[in-house]
Amino acid sequence: AKSEGKNRYIFFSAEMIEELEKRIETEKILLDCLKNKDFKLVYQPQVSSKTGEVHAFEALIRLKNYNISPAEFIPVAEETGLIVEIGYFVIEEAVRQIKEWIDKGIEVKPIGVNLSAVQLRDESFVSNLKEIIKKYSIKPSLLKIEITESALMEDKERNIKIIEQLKEVGIQIAIDDFGTGYSSLNYLTFIPADYIKLDKSFIDKMFAKEGKKEVLDGITFLAHQLNLKVVVEGIEDREQFNYLKSKGCDYMQGYLFSRPVDKEEAEKLFAKRFEV
Ligand code: C2E
Ligand code: CA
Ligand code: CA
Ligand code: CA
Repeated sequence: AKSEGKNRYIFFSAEMIEELEKRIETEKILLDCLKNKDFKLVYQPQVSSKTGEVHAFEALIRLKNYNISPAEFIPVAEETGLIVEIGYFVIEEAVRQIKEWIDKGIEVKPIGVNLSAVQLRDESFVSNLKEIIKKYSIKPSLLKIEITESALMEDKERNIKIIEQLKEVGIQIAIDDFGTGYSSLNYLTFIPADYIKLDKSFIDKMFAKEGKKEVLDGITFLAHQLNLKVVVEGIEDREQFNYLKSKGCDYMQGYLFSRPVDKEEAEKLFAKRFEV
């Protein structure tokens, strides 16, 4: 800040130092993982409320040799810019996996990957993405991008243009973590998305004692008016499932059906029909 002159001291608390050390340690680990490609993807199915079939998967990143959750290391990857390279790994690995399944004769379903706002700052993002899709020659609609509203709003005009370009290529778009932060329904009318994903925290609040379930009616109604499908995240029990299904939510993702699983397990899920 402006007022911090030459002779001002800044004091750090023990907690701040500890936090800082943890971040530095995490950054080291990420650099190490990048060098050795020690990341992997796990896949969580999104189940059709009507048929019980797997409609798509979400790919989620894991560190091969460390038990650190993305909630912890993704923010560090974003702050350090490492997310750009990690993000390309995630996209290429998802596309490569789709291709591998196609070559095995499996009737594949789209895979969604999470995109951070930092990745969109890379000038060559769209062309790199096209390159990857071309390299494995898959149908672009088999790739889905999950991006949060807040990420889009970081540089609204520019990011929406990028989303429009991805859409033109044929890539599917999902608005992630819907119902968190400063959700305004208005922006849904000008983002060319295919899905909204209701966040787990939103669902949990809705089912809490004082929760207001009515708001869901408005969201699903508007989404469907705008030709958006509604995906719900974090479904853990039947009660939630039955209610959300009755309200017209199209696809469900959560521990009720499956945790994120490795590619061998995921492969078996293509043929599975869950009880709905
Ligand atoms: P997200 O995009 O909201 O992903 C959904 C998270 O909810 C995942 O956590 C998933 O394992 C968890 N989940 C799904 N169903 C349930 C359920 O029924 N109960 C509970 N308790 N949790 C459930 P995960 O894999 O730990 O990822 C956390 C976050 O890290 C993601 O939230 C996403 O924001 C970020 N992330 C994960 N992989 C990537 C990636 O490849 N790139 C980027 N940029 N971010 C990623
Ligand atoms: Ca997501
Ligand atoms: Ca998220
Ligand atoms: Ca979420």
